[in-house]
Amino acid sequence: MISRAEAIEMFASDDLIGIGMEADAVRRRHHPDGIVSYIIDRNINYTNFCTEYCSFCAFYRPMGHKEGYVLPQETIFDKIQETIDLGGTGILFQGGLHPDLKIEWYEDLLRNIKKRFNIWCHCFSAPEITNIAQVSGLSLHDTIARLRDAGLDSIPGGGAEILDDAVRYRISRLKCGTQEWIDVHRTAHALGMRTTATMMFGCGETIEQRMNHFDIVRQIQEDTGGFTAFIPWAFQRELTSLGRFVKEEATAVEYLKTLAVSRIYLDNIVNIQSSWVTPGLKTCQLGLRFGGNDVGSIMIEENVVSAAGTHHKATEEELRRLIRDAGFTPKQRDTLYRTYFLN
Ligand code: SF4
Repeated sequence: MISRAEAIEMFASDDLIGIGMEADAVRRRHHPDGIVSYIIDRNINYTNFCTEYCSFCAFYRPMGHKEGYVLPQETIFDKIQETIDLGGTGILFQGGLHPDLKIEWYEDLLRNIKKRFNIWCHCFSAPEITNIAQVSGLSLHDTIARLRDAGLDSIPGGGAEILDDAVRYRISRLKCGTQEWIDVHRTAHALGMRTTATMMFGCGETIEQRMNHFDIVRQIQEDTGGFTAFIPWAFQRELTSLGRFVKEEATAVEYLKTLAVSRIYLDNIVNIQSSWVTPGLKTCQLGLRFGGNDVGSIMIEENVVSAAGTHHKATEEELRRLIRDAGFTPKQRDTLYRTYFLN
């Protein structure tokens, strides 16, 4: 593994191709079979009511707002059925932090889903879980254990943004702090659940602060081995209030360099995602030579990022062609990155 100082040197270097080749070598060591995976799943935004007012978010509506909603269970079931009909294997729930929905609401939803469907539930990021615990007066451990018992299979890494409290204080003052994000993921791992780690960069943080994020993720993985993947993505400024202050979005070069450094530095995480949703399909394809071995989801629905002004879309066939043209074999995977039972 390279040191923090070496990673900082890479960020400062102009040798983009050299860094990419190094990341590609690490990718090849983890994935010698040349497979690049993708998943068919659906992101269901069950509510947009939220009390946190994150400055990078264009999705939420304050309580009482006429555009606010909580999806009825029947609507959620219809969306799951559509996902299954399209060959999907999982759903991801992502919502605002609703101050009135107690754990029973989530348990009831999960139980009813599991009763009706054979689908993987990769749901509720750390801020949502922290919120459920607070609203319900429960410990994190009991909250996660109860959600797991009701049908929660794994937890997405959303809400990590940059795991550095100075950054979080600036961009998402009310939302869970670094330690709470860590506690949710460590608790889930201790309960035998897998989670992903994400990073939203390019929101005005320094390279040192970005490295603090990497160090936290690398250390948790060292201790628990519970992360299935690391997913870096760049902040989208359009239509967000933070966008007024962060004048320049991350460029393709910055994205590829950050992806490559994450592949090299987080050598203990097997999967690194080259995303297409925010950087676009062509940069995503290049990312497969900068350390990425997965292109994420054919997202059937994603309201949070599109609310912030991103409108890239991809069909399964487009993603498969993109992967093939980069010299890899496309394979559909499930939420745990298993490809063996699918095509
Ligand atoms: S990012 Fe999440 S927590 Fe923050 S305002 Fe948006 S919905 Fe709420």
